[in-house]
Amino acid sequence: MSTSDDRLIDLLAQLSLEDKVRLVSGEDFWTTTPLPQIGLRAMVLSDGPSGVRGPVWDERQPSLNLPSATALAASWDPELASRYGAVAASEALRKGVDVVLGPTINLQRSPLGGRHFEAFSEDPELTAALAEAYVRGMQALGIAATPKHYVANDSETDRFTVDVRVDERTLRELYLLPFERTVDAGAWAIMSAYNSVNGPTMTENPLLADPLESEWGFDGVVVSDWTAVRSVASATAAQDLAMPGPAPAWSDALIAAVRDGRVAEAAIDRKVLRLLRLADRVGALEGSAPARIAAAFDGQAFAEEAAIAGTVMVRNDGELPWHRDAIRRIAVIGHNARVARTQGGGSATVIPEHVRSPLDGIRAALPGAEVVFETGAVVQEGVAELPLEQLTNPVTGEHGVVVSFHDSDGRELFREHRRSTALVWFGGDAPIAESRKVVLHTFYTPEADEELRLGFATSNPGRVFVDGELLVEGTPVIEGTDLGAAFLSPPSITAPLSARRGVRRELRAEFDLLPTGTGLDGALSLTVGMTPPDVDPDALIARAVEVAASADVALVVVGTNSRVESEGYDRSDLDLPGRQDDLVRAVAAANPHTVVVVNAGSPVLLPWRDEVAAVLVGFFGGQEFGTAIADVVFGDAEPGGRLPTSWPADLADVPVLDVTPVNGALEYSEGIHIGYRAWLRAGTRPAFPFGFGLGYTTWDWRSIEATAGDDGSVTVHVELANTGDRSGKHVVQVYADRADSAIERPERWLVGFAVVRAAAGEQLAVEVTVPRRRFAHWSDDGWAVEPGSFRLRVGSDVTTLPLAVQIEVPAEVVA
Ligand code: BGC
Repeated sequence: MSTSDDRLIDLLAQLSLEDKVRLVSGEDFWTTTPLPQIGLRAMVLSDGPSGVRGPVWDERQPSLNLPSATALAASWDPELASRYGAVAASEALRKGVDVVLGPTINLQRSPLGGRHFEAFSEDPELTAALAEAYVRGMQALGIAATPKHYVANDSETDRFTVDVRVDERTLRELYLLPFERTVDAGAWAIMSAYNSVNGPTMTENPLLADPLESEWGFDGVVVSDWTAVRSVASATAAQDLAMPGPAPAWSDALIAAVRDGRVAEAAIDRKVLRLLRLADRVGALEGSAPARIAAAFDGQAFAEEAAIAGTVMVRNDGELPWHRDAIRRIAVIGHNARVARTQGGGSATVIPEHVRSPLDGIRAALPGAEVVFETGAVVQEGVAELPLEQLTNPVTGEHGVVVSFHDSDGRELFREHRRSTALVWFGGDAPIAESRKVVLHTFYTPEADEELRLGFATSNPGRVFVDGELLVEGTPVIEGTDLGAAFLSPPSITAPLSARRGVRRELRAEFDLLPTGTGLDGALSLTVGMTPPDVDPDALIARAVEVAASADVALVVVGTNSRVESEGYDRSDLDLPGRQDDLVRAVAAANPHTVVVVNAGSPVLLPWRDEVAAVLVGFFGGQEFGTAIADVVFGDAEPGGRLPTSWPADLADVPVLDVTPVNGALEYSEGIHIGYRAWLRAGTRPAFPFGFGLGYTTWDWRSIEATAGDDGSVTVHVELANTGDRSGKHVVQVYADRADSAIERPERWLVGFAVVRAAAGEQLAVEVTVPRRRFAHWSDDGWAVEPGSFRLRVGSDVTTLPLAVQIEVPAEVVA
């Protein structure tokens, strides 16, 4: 025990049982309980992994919206991941946040997982290497990282209750590995998941103690996922903090349980000590060494750099990069080209101060050219917020809305002036729990004559009045049982409205607030908005074809929407929503210089991929996505990414697909074979394999050698040359395989990688050190290395591996 622990133990001794239980039960949505008598202030926790929202969900306090975790993983660049963590930490510092609830390091087990954009990849090594860099980068500035969700929360269907059945070896080699590595990297917190694993729910699961605490030596705080602590029994597990507070399952119930001996006070002391240690680390305890280190980052420039690094070019038929001088007229097509989807939906959402759409990016990059836009196909489902510049706050006269909260007698309790009609209260000052009605009031001045559908999305009963007359009323029907999904991505109801250009309409939307008994009382999410104008889909495509045919080149941006990729539900197929496939085919037929940007957080099917000149996958690229796309298509930057997950050609080919529990259980019956391992085993080729991605130059793999280290590691020395005529980035990928193995193995598995950059014509010597553990498998006796030799194969994706070397690895059991 350290001297600093002695000091924490002294502080612990000064606390009553009530104080201790209040501390471990949380204070409110995002903070822990302050205990001023021992100099402990509240600690502020905040989502999300792709930026830091801060304690309020409010457009008046915007955040830097970084590219998604999948985009970060597509960079394959731990140095970038470290800076990503640091940039997020500096956002946390700016927003008064102590603990960031990320990174999400669950694995992309099935492409149907609806929340994959928040996670890194299908491979444990790639995920672990980037996650540990992120954690180090963040915590170096004194902000705690919280790798989540421990463990096996790899899909969303029935996520609160599903029991994931997974064998020990698979857990160790795949799903636990990124957690082990982030604990090694010194993570100060871990979030326990909603689901169960092999029986017990994760907030009560023995995996919290072993291996997390015992074997890996985790000395930080296990914070529950929001509302995941459901029993007093979980207090006897190595579950330290129940959030949000005050958690009903602990609080008074836990005090009573300690008093009557069902829970030992020592179990509470252990949690308190860990919370005090966290407070000491983040500087929330008087007398602690200052923890926070302010670092100046240009967040916007970083977001652009990371979006470029995470863009993967999966096809280029000699089309890209485009030369600006050769383009006089460009067609930019696609709903997502104008309304950029820069992040997935759910708790990871942040509100950016601005978003550069691909259309903005192209316009800025081609000031002298004619840029023509067409929607082409509707992607949005449900209502989207009303454009701010068309709204007038009736009280202030500025752009925006006034929102008021009323009690059961109609008395106004609170009001605020907001600059959005998509509003979430999840923490903050608005008295949601005390209110019975919330009213949103604004004037809306349409910019065009349009037949709209106006309405709202929320899980509460509501009604909208236009110029004093009721337009629409009802309670949206919630699909499924996931409260998070209902809250964060609620359904819409709408009614038709004829909008006339310049004719101001008074909008008044009212919502009834009813207690839900879910632990989410006090939270509210609602959007007042409209669906896209009702236009014949064939006519939309025809208009897109017309502009494409008359342009020098066409850029089509396709993608998913918030009903497809969001927290709380999975996908049922991998198709692009709406008529986007028809759109791409029609545009490509009209213009041979058609480049498609795919903006999705996880794989979608691209049945037209061989019919277009080039395809870029942007994932959800964050607020500077549009600038990054322009940088890439005009060759100012090279698309730096490589796929962090296999992209199928067809749904039927996907070897691990099913995410629907049967009788409450989801069997990971494929064991250690997920992602590319499963594709290799099935012998089926995906559309684009794991690790694949093209750049703007060419490379030649020249030679390979391996040397053994004293610690049992192996270093591969690779020579490769940039044989093209411009500088470039490449990712040297190292896979192991084992012929004649006595144990079941993947056909090959990733053991290391390195990003390289070389000037035109330059030859490089690269070293990748592979620790002995990467050759080990989980056996009945723990980690073991099978005697005999392994082969290391090196190349540019999991199926393109021109170099190979045979190596010996010392075979004793690895500690
Ligand atoms: C999500 C977590 C998130 C938490 C707080 C949960 O529903 O699963 O990832 O950190 O909410 O927003």
